[in-house]
Amino acid sequence: MKGLLKNFLIILILFILVSGIFSMFSSSGKSPAEISLTELAQQINDEKVNKITVKDQSLEVFLKDETSEVATKEAESGLTESLKNYGVDTTKLQKVAITVEQASGWKYWLGNVIVPFLLPLLIMGLFLWFMMRQAKQGAGGQGFGFTKSLARIIMPEDKKQQSSFADVAGLKEAKQELDEVVDFLKSPEKFIAIGAKIPKGVLLIGPPGCGKTLLARAVSGEAKVPFFHISGSEFVELFVGVGSARTRDLFQTAKKNSPCIIFIDELDAIGRQRGAGLGGGHDEREQTLNQILVEMDGFEPNSGVVVLAATNRPDILDTALLRPGRFDRRVMLDLPDINDREEILKIHAKNKPVTADVNLRQLAERTPGFSGADLANLVNEAAIAAARQNKKEVEMIDLISSIEKVLLGPERKSHILSTDEKKIAAYHEAGHALVAASLPHTDPVRKVSIIARGQAAGYTLKLPEFDKHLHSKTEFVEELSVLLGGYYAEKVVFNEITTGAGNDLEKTTDLARRLVMRYGMSDKLGPRTFGETEDMVFLGKEITTEKNYSEKVAQDIDKEVFDFIDNAAKAAQKILTEKRALLDKIANRLIEKETIEKEEFEALMKS
Ligand code: ADP
Ligand code: MG
Ligand code: ZN
Repeated sequence: MKGLLKNFLIILILFILVSGIFSMFSSSGKSPAEISLTELAQQINDEKVNKITVKDQSLEVFLKDETSEVATKEAESGLTESLKNYGVDTTKLQKVAITVEQASGWKYWLGNVIVPFLLPLLIMGLFLWFMMRQAKQGAGGQGFGFTKSLARIIMPEDKKQQSSFADVAGLKEAKQELDEVVDFLKSPEKFIAIGAKIPKGVLLIGPPGCGKTLLARAVSGEAKVPFFHISGSEFVELFVGVGSARTRDLFQTAKKNSPCIIFIDELDAIGRQRGAGLGGGHDEREQTLNQILVEMDGFEPNSGVVVLAATNRPDILDTALLRPGRFDRRVMLDLPDINDREEILKIHAKNKPVTADVNLRQLAERTPGFSGADLANLVNEAAIAAARQNKKEVEMIDLISSIEKVLLGPERKSHILSTDEKKIAAYHEAGHALVAASLPHTDPVRKVSIIARGQAAGYTLKLPEFDKHLHSKTEFVEELSVLLGGYYAEKVVFNEITTGAGNDLEKTTDLARRLVMRYGMSDKLGPRTFGETEDMVFLGKEITTEKNYSEKVAQDIDKEVFDFIDNAAKAAQKILTEKRALLDKIANRLIEKETIEKEEFEALMKS
């Protein structure tokens, strides 16, 4: 917008300048009267004329009474001749001083060549130049440009959009791996001289929000090379046939700009296993994928173009993409551990004023399982909350309440429950919390609430004390009981079930099936997995494939799933009936206060 205005102003100024120059030549100063040649002849005969100056066709006539006039003679004939034709007395003409002024050098050129011919050309040239510049800048901003590839380009000069490894917390191994790529892009000669081949493609793999896009961008920032950024879903959105053309275009533009990085975000959107789609696959996607493969095979290993790609679903990528010479380097990115979380929080809190009591370490302790994106979001939410309360600094309490907001969505205080509903919700949540607190291997309860939040009508917030990478069967079995705690609390207290437990039951069933079919945690069926993973089924790949186990085993699986749930249900019911008094206490406190924090809950449990 600003650029457009600037161009407009420049063009306007040019116009004013040009018209100024034109008017300078067409009329000089206050314009004398224009007369015809006949009149001039008459005036000469009347002996009024003193002097005539001839400049090309224009005549400047100085009269004896000190005034002057202008006239124009015919181009073909001389002045004397013309005047004679108009009946001038020759003797009288001789008394008039006639001077012929050669149109002077630069003025002649300016008037006859530069202004009418060269200037318009110059202006057109300038205009085109501006357009080109505009288009190039546009490409850096939001796409298009002269390449039709829709890739966004970040140039090394563009300091605002650049980032470096310092902006990425943690991810040490990934950074080390990518350092090699940076090194190559910085000084390719070194590698070429020794005959080393640098990988053409590097695939960044990691869960959503762990910083893949951020890291890819940082690589280009570190190497100070152009960064072509396109996301897989953008490729797929395009019309038939254009996807592959755009791919070709992208790679061509990149080669012209080498050394540089092409970054294909969300590669899984295009790189899905071919033939996996419903009804014969997605033609467009296949063509685009093929084109990417062709382009990657086509360029020299050391042409200076490195293709980075990111995905959180490496399992569904087409194997052709992973062959040597393509994305043969893979870099794994993990969710941040406690130290990394602290670092990430530091990065995002850097530009925000915080009070002295803000303890990012403590915040990191409270956020196991959070991704970098979650943490960035958390800090931002806290800043928003602080600003809305007209605070000048972000306080610890803002940060802590943002944890729940990020985890569960915003509170819906307007979602008002009737007294009966409130009672049911209170017993339901108290049920979850009581079962969780009564079993030894569950995560500690941080908060119980019957204030609606995001999708949930109420919630029991449990968070692990440490980062966990492995989960045991015992933990899962207890988790099943906790999930069923709400359902059975309603049943034990009201002898009635509401729809509020629907979501819990879905989770229970899903977890129980995973125990049996994926984790080999059923004693009876042993260390086996059954069936393709759900994700594959979801993508349609296995939709016509038969399940890889017999009907008999299918029955066994169902039986095992039933048993897991049954046992968990019994355990939950037992706790709830035995500790009925405690259940009432928690529920009543919830009805009264709507939210119970960790410390208060623990005190209740001990009472
Ligand atoms: P992904 O591409 O893996 O889904 P992004 O790179 O888009 O994740 O990360 C989203 C946001 O989360 C980033 O813009 C950044 O603000 C924040 N973030 C994620 N990981 C980190 C990290 N390691 N260090 C700092 N910020 C991070
Ligand atoms: Mg991303
Ligand atoms: Zn529930």
